[in-house]
Formats: sequence, structure tokens, C-alpha cells
Amino acid sequence: MVKLANVAGRSVLVLGQGSGLDIATASGGRFGPDPQQVVGNWDAFIDWLSRLRYDEGDVSFTPSDLGPPVPRPTQVFAIGVNYREHADEAGYPPDSLPVTFTKFASCLTGADAEVTLPTATVDWEVELVVVIGRGGRDVARAAAWDHVAGVTVGQDLSERTSQMAGSRPQYSLAKSHEGFGPTGPWLVTPDELPDRDDLAISCSIGGQTMQSSRTAKMIYDVPELIARLSAVCALLPGDLIFTGTPSGVGNARTPKRFLTPADELVSTIEGIGSIRTRFRSA
Ligand code: ZN
Repeated sequence: MVKLANVAGRSVLVLGQGSGLDIATASGGRFGPDPQQVVGNWDAFIDWLSRLRYDEGDVSFTPSDLGPPVPRPTQVFAIGVNYREHADEAGYPPDSLPVTFTKFASCLTGADAEVTLPTATVDWEVELVVVIGRGGRDVARAAAWDHVAGVTVGQDLSERTSQMAGSRPQYSLAKSHEGFGPTGPWLVTPDELPDRDDLAISCSIGGQTMQSSRTAKMIYDVPELIARLSAVCALLPGDLIFTGTPSGVGNARTPKRFLTPADELVSTIEGIGSIRTRFRSA
């Protein structure tokens, strides 16, 4: 398994707790230091990495050093209502196409971020985020995982007032405020996940579980999302897909519950790790 982190803007192979190998140094400048450049050359990078021999790391880091594993994707696809229980709580019938919007890439942040709350109605949505490694159009379902560089943990933070204010849902803007796309702690290649199609996914606030499900409960699973999205848009190396959130969001609770500056949000996916998000008032 390969874990690849963004440590203060440099691509780092994670070796252990807080230690890693700087990719640009190890590759003599062929790959990196920009993490986006590494995922953008994924097949060549993985081929090089498979032949790399090293003794020990040359980088130490703490969670606060971790930036978004993929900092500047060309495209960010985000999928709405992709878990049955969340479709029920949100009041949406399953659609014939995945409900697709974007989180504009400027909203991406890292694994230990402090995010400004623009209003008092900001909600959480823990999501599995897929990183495309090999691009293409019309990717067949059976080949879809071969196009994935890795997966990471994401939060699709959502400002519910503007999302719901108009005659149509305003997903893309309402979910793209500064810092509204925490991702991390690193990209994990899918090869050694316990089961890449069935991972425990959860988030908690102050230690209290808010969402807890399994990625096997997606309506459109990862291969199906890649097949359907690539039937419309060419996928590019380094693109992200936020794959939708399970039930348990704050907007669907009675009474409704939204994020406050006192909250610490911890989002976890089995086999990948956890990200921690803190908040401050505008
Ligand atoms: Zn979402």
C-alpha cells in the first residue's frame, strides 16, 4: 500500500507515524515536489516507485503540516444523495443519473484545518473521495478501479441556507466557501484496503458519532460513478470525485444541528485514517 501526503506543499511518501520520504529528492526531481504533478503523472510515478529502494525517511511531519493530498485538481465531481438512508432523510428520490455538482477547487484544505463559518447553518457530510490516476472517456465499469490512483477522506461542508434558498438547489456555491473541502490525511492506493468497495465511514463532533455507515451502501458505487461520469466528461489524472454522504447530517436532525466554533469534527474512513476540522466565526 502506498500513502502519499502533501507535507507543506511537497509530495511525501508516508513511511510511518510522522515520517516520510520526499518524492522530489528521492526521484532527483523527476516527480514532485508539487503533489499535483505527482498524481498528474500517476502511471509513470507508480512504475518508478515500484523500483525505488530506500532505507529510511528524510521528512518528519505533524498533522498540521498536511495540505490537501490533491491541491489543484482540474475537475472536482461531487455526488449528491448517493446513500439510500441519506436520500430518504433529505427527501430525494433516487435519480437515473447521479446528482452531480462541483466543489470549486479553491475550497480544498487539509487534514487539520480551521474553517471559517460564514453563517450559523453550516453542515457536515463525511465522504469517500476518489482520486483519478488514469484518465479517459467511456471507462467500463469493470475497468474503473484501474483508473483510480487512490482514495482519501473528505468533508463536503455545506452552507444550507444558500443551498436551499432559491427555486433550485444551489449545491456548487453553497459547498465551496473557503475551507469547505477538507481532505486527507493522505491518498491511499486501493490495492491493500480491506475491501475497497466496503469501507466503514463515519464522523463525530466532540466524540459523539453523527454519521456511521459503510461505502457498500452507495446507490452508485465507485465503478458505476466512474463509468457514468466518464460517459459525459473525460476524466483527467488528479481529478477528484466526492462520492456522497451517508445519513446523519445536521440539517436532517430534529432539532436541526449545525457546526459552531466550539465543535471539533473528526471524519474517519477504514483503512485511510482520520481528518480533524475545527471552526471559527466569520
Ligand atoms: Zn456531499
